[in-house]
Amino acid sequence: MVTPTDSTLRLSADREVCVGAGQCVRAAPDLFDQDDDGLVVVLRADVPTEASTGARTAADWCPSGAVTAHEPS
Ligand code: SF4
Repeated sequence: MVTPTDSTLRLSADREVCVGAGQCVRAAPDLFDQDDDGLVVVLRADVPTEASTGARTAADWCPSGAVTAHEPS
């Protein structure tokens, strides 16, 4: 298990904003899922280094701006 550190990219997703487009799941299926209503579910908020590209792509692709990839400080 990876211990989150200050260098870990963190994900958040606003389900109030999500429109269920599913782009996040296409970009990073290990990090996102959709519930029965199609709304985003974040599977891993602390992103492993090897998945950071997918996390950033999901934030870029999300049409509603619901996904945010918080860069390490
Ligand atoms: S891409 Fe954005 S709008 Fe689509 S399911 Fe994911 S969070 Fe929701």
